[in-house]
Amino acid sequence: MNEIILIKNGELVLKGLNRNTFEDILIKNMKKSLRDLGEFTFTKSQSTIMVKPVDEDTDLDDAVDRLKRVFGIAALSRAAVSEKDMDCIKSISSEYLDDELSLAKTFKVEAKRSDKKFPLKSPEIARELGGYLLSKFNHLKVDVHNPDVTVTVEIRDNYAFIRGNNIKGAGGMPVSTSGRAAVLISGGIDSPVAAYMMAKRGIELVAVHFASPPYTTELAEEKVMELLHRVAKYSGPITTYVVPFTEIQERIREDCPEEFFTIIMRRYMMKISEIIAHHQNCSALITGESVGQVASQTIYALGCTDAACEMPVFRPCIGMDKEEIIRISRKIDTFDTSILPYEDCCTVFTPKHPKTRPQLSAVIDAEASLDSDALIQRAVDGARRTVIK
Ligand code: ATP
Ligand code: MG
Repeated sequence: MNEIILIKNGELVLKGLNRNTFEDILIKNMKKSLRDLGEFTFTKSQSTIMVKPVDEDTDLDDAVDRLKRVFGIAALSRAAVSEKDMDCIKSISSEYLDDELSLAKTFKVEAKRSDKKFPLKSPEIARELGGYLLSKFNHLKVDVHNPDVTVTVEIRDNYAFIRGNNIKGAGGMPVSTSGRAAVLISGGIDSPVAAYMMAKRGIELVAVHFASPPYTTELAEEKVMELLHRVAKYSGPITTYVVPFTEIQERIREDCPEEFFTIIMRRYMMKISEIIAHHQNCSALITGESVGQVASQTIYALGCTDAACEMPVFRPCIGMDKEEIIRISRKIDTFDTSILPYEDCCTVFTPKHPKTRPQLSAVIDAEASLDSDALIQRAVDGARRTVIK
C-alpha cells in the first residue's frame, strides 16, 4: 500500500505573503531531519505539505517520530493513497485503519472534496464510507461530537488520501524564520529548556558554554554536549563554543569582594557571549534565568547582569516555577541528563553570603580592578568551536 505523511502547518498559515518563504524553510528543516532516513519528495498543496518516501520500504514510524519535533508543524498524520474510486477507498480504509478501528469504540467519517468533479459530494462520501466501516467493524458506534477515531478522506486532483487520527506536531515556527540567538548553556535544567523554547519561536541557536578546568571536568562538558544534542533534535544543528573560564574565575576570587563573585562572573559570561554572538550574526542572547530562583536571579541581581551587555537577553523561563521548567525538560528528554551530578563553573566559587540586592554601581566598583578587556580577549581567543547535531 502506498503511504505518505501529511503535514498541517501551524502558525505560519497566518503569515500572508510570507507564507511561501515560511513553507520553504519548513520543508528545508524537514529534509534535514529526515536526511539519513531515505529520500522523500515534498509537495505543497493548500495548507498541507505532502511528504512521500521515494522508496516504499522507508521506515515511516521513524520519519513521523522525527517530524514530530520539527517546529512549524501543527499536526501530522500518515495517510494511505487510494485511487479515486469508492470501492477502492472502502477496502483501503478498512485494511489501513484496521488496528485503530478495532481498538476504538466510536468513530466518525469526515470527507473533503477538493476535486469537485468527483461524483459524490462530501456528505455522501462520509455516509457511504461510514456505513461500510460499520458493517465491517460491527462493534463500532458513530459519534460525531467526540469520536475515538476520526477517519478522514480527502479527494484530491489525482488521488484520495485516507487517514485516521492526527498526531500533534511540535507547534511554533520553523527554525531560522526568526533570526539567530546565542544561548548560554550550563549543565543545569533551565538553560536547555530556554534554548528549546526560543527555537520553538523560530530562532536558530548558537550555544556558548563556560568551562573551568580543572575545577570542572571533561565529564561535565560532555554532559552539556549531550544536552545540546537533545535540544538539536528540535532546533537543528547548534554551533557551540566552549569558552575557557578558569582564569576569569580565579581573578575574580583573588581581586573582588566575595559577596559579588557570582554576579561579576555572570556579567563576564554575558560580555563574552555577546562578542561571540556578534561574531555568529546573532541578534540576542538567551539564558535560563528565572526570577528568585537563586541569589543571582533576584530582580536586582538580574538588573546587574542585564547591564553587562547591549543585546536583548531572552529569558523564557523568567516567570516559571521550577516544576513547570522540569515538566518541559522531561518532555524534551533533557531532564535525566541535566540532573547528572557534575560541577558547573557557577558552583565552583559560590560565595557563602551572596548579595541578593546588589547595586550596579557597587558591582562596577567591585570589578574595576580587573583587567577586563585582556581577560575577555583571552577567553574569546581560547574558545573551541564544534557543531552539535
Ligand atoms: P541552569 O539550570 O540553566 O544551569 P541555574 O538555575 O542553575 O540555571 P545559574 O547557574 O545561576 O542558574 O545560571 C543562570 C544562567 O546562566 C543559566 O540558565 C545559563 O543560561 C547561564 N549559565 C550558567 N552557568 C553557565 C555556564 N557554565 N556556561 C554557560 N552559561 C551558563
Ligand atoms: Mg546552573
